[in-house]
Amino acid sequence: MIIPTVPTTDELLDKGFRRARKAASLKRSSKIPGQKKAKVIESTRVQTACQVIRDRLKMIIQRIPDIESLPEFYQDYIDVTVGVDELKKSLGALNWAVGILNQLESDYMTRIKRSKPSDASRLRREAFGRISSVIKRIDGDLDFLDFAKNKLRNMPTVDLDAFTVVIAGFPNVGKSTLLRTLTGAEPEVADYPFTTKGIQIGHLERKWKRIQVIDTPGLLDRPVEDMNNIELQAMVALENIADVIMFIFDASETCGYTLESQYSLYLGIRSVFDIPIVTVFNKMDLAENVKYLEEYINRVEDPLKVSAFEGRGVSKIIKKLEGLYEKETRKAHDNV
Ligand code: GDP
Repeated sequence: MIIPTVPTTDELLDKGFRRARKAASLKRSSKIPGQKKAKVIESTRVQTACQVIRDRLKMIIQRIPDIESLPEFYQDYIDVTVGVDELKKSLGALNWAVGILNQLESDYMTRIKRSKPSDASRLRREAFGRISSVIKRIDGDLDFLDFAKNKLRNMPTVDLDAFTVVIAGFPNVGKSTLLRTLTGAEPEVADYPFTTKGIQIGHLERKWKRIQVIDTPGLLDRPVEDMNNIELQAMVALENIADVIMFIFDASETCGYTLESQYSLYLGIRSVFDIPIVTVFNKMDLAENVKYLEEYINRVEDPLKVSAFEGRGVSKIIKKLEGLYEKETRKAHDNV
């Protein structure tokens, strides 16, 4: 989501008042009779200041898409990253300011019109004072929108229609190697809350099938019970788009985690995601010495033994994913 540049309070007021002075100086050189001129100049200043500031606020409001009309994944993403309620509250405050500026503009235009020429400049100063205080009241909201703009700048562009596989497993088990081997390309990288290297997205095209593979380093790579609520929410946002979890074990334990702790991470992930899990034992090329490996392999359903490094067993993963894809497509058709 692209939020337009958000000015600070001072920038906004500066711009409004500066443009107002310029607009008034054009009137100054016009041929309006002396008495009337002061009133025209001052009301032009009030009108221009209100319009310039209001247009800028409106432009920000209009360019931010309606959060509720976004797909659920993006709503969750925005909520975890900056907070949907805060975002709505700030947009509401901008809307409020637009309304007040409308009112101030018409009030002061009328008052200046009806005033003595000698009062026009005082009324204009009063109007400017009120414009300033309205804008100062939304200072925190402008700051927040600027923060949100920066936070949401590099949102992931996930394909919401593609069959999607989300990779999980401890750091260094070979998740990103596997992602690259499966998709045959450098993944796209975007921001994702609580990920250390951002979210990585790759695509696997097979005949008519398009499979999206996502890795979230820093999120699905540690015990679920260590996560706070907002981290869990970030993780669950993935469930909206995931059709399958692919859990990677490092069969060699060279990642630094024992098979026992990898197994308990596996159980944790399985308890959170209510979707099929494809279980992969990676680094089989290094695994000969791990005596008790078979015990763990036997604990999971349909384990796939691979070496992402050598590309061994990768075709079995693809076949498995294609099978699940077809199953899901059939299910979707049956439900029509
Ligand atoms: P991630 O943190 O889970 O994404 O792990 P990486 O993909 O960055 O891999 C961690 C390290 O393990 C890297 O040095 C990889 O080259 C290595 N690695 C990954 N898969 C294999 C494999 O199947 N065999 C071997 N020997 N090394 C692997």
